Amino acid sequence: MNVPLLDLVAQYRSIADEVVPAVMRVIERQTFIMGPEVAELERALAELCHARHAIACASGTDALLLPLKALDLSPGDEVIAPAFTFFATAGAIHNAGGTPVFADIDPGTYNADPAAIEAAITPRTRGIVVVHLFGQMAAMERVMAIAGRHGLAVIEDAAQSIGARRRIGDEWRVAGELGRAGTLSFFPSKNLGAWGDGGMMLTQDDALAARLGKLRLHGGAKQYHHEEVGFNSRLDTLQAAVLLAKLPHLAGWSAARRERAARYDQLLAPIHGICTPKVDPANEHIFHQYTVRAERRDALLRHLRARGIGCAVYYPLGLHLQPCFADLGYRPGALPETEAASREVLSLPIYPELAPAAQDAVVAAIREFYA
Ligand SMILES: *Cc1c(COP(=O)(O)O)cnc(C)c1O
Repeated sequence: MNVPLLDLVAQYRSIADEVVPAVMRVIERQTFIMGPEVAELERALAELCHARHAIACASGTDALLLPLKALDLSPGDEVIAPAFTFFATAGAIHNAGGTPVFADIDPGTYNADPAAIEAAITPRTRGIVVVHLFGQMAAMERVMAIAGRHGLAVIEDAAQSIGARRRIGDEWRVAGELGRAGTLSFFPSKNLGAWGDGGMMLTQDDALAARLGKLRLHGGAKQYHHEEVGFNSRLDTLQAAVLLAKLPHLAGWSAARRERAARYDQLLAPIHGICTPKVDPANEHIFHQYTVRAERRDALLRHLRARGIGCAVYYPLGLHLQPCFADLGYRPGALPETEAASREVLSLPIYPELAPAAQDAVVAAIREFYA
């Protein structure tokens, strides 16, 4: 039985009659740039993410870049980020003119370890990018306390955690609501995926929201007047229409992902060689990825792929060891938890349409490998 890592065609078939007419309305109107759906989506996501402002942009990468640009970094200014994440997190720091400084991760959640973040602070540190990896939030209450003590800006990369929640005190806080800015990605494989690229910036800060709105439109609030040099980073109206049509399904999809994760947990528990994902008890996980640690990981990956089971390594090389950051001077062994995770993790198929029989096939193939 073939089980893809992700099946976007199955999702498309289940909602085509809702999304296609929404796309056709934009086409009939020919309002491709900043049409009404963009502002409507911004309002809807601001509400979902408990944010005063949501500002749409062209990608999750730009959603990081623009708030980092708004920090007005000088050469040599440092921004701390976890080394175990998608490249964009650190690429955006570099492209905003900053120097990434990498922190090691908590081996349970794979999120940046707040103690490692604090230990990485120097007099040149200006900010912290926190990543809510694989669908669960980092320990924001601890990161915000550290940032407060040192006067640092926090940017939350919630590309993989749209709508994920964490119980802090006696309140549920949503990914992206607590930092100076939060960011979302609508890359097609994300939990809320567009039919192309897209991103969203979240903030509670009125002045920052106004600046981000300008930065995405060449640095000017008024057309042909430019207070600073910005970017062309708008969200297409077509993508906003797709996302608005999909949004009512998001909560159900996240619940379906949690159910499938719980079923994997149960089925995989008896298999020696596999360690199932750890969920911080304060978190409501949305399982963007279901990521296990596996003994003889690379051999297991080959075994599964040979049997038509989709799987992938997110991420095979820590950002501190990427060739493009060689001049930062990190050596193998510098971030041991990141490096161990890079050797051991394997993400298995998880999506709302994943049928029990398909899941059973994944588990059977894993069981066969370790038997
Ligand atoms: C996907 C992703 C991004 C970038 O989003 P794009 O929309 O692909 O530019 C940034 N950070 C993380 C953690 C991601 O997973």
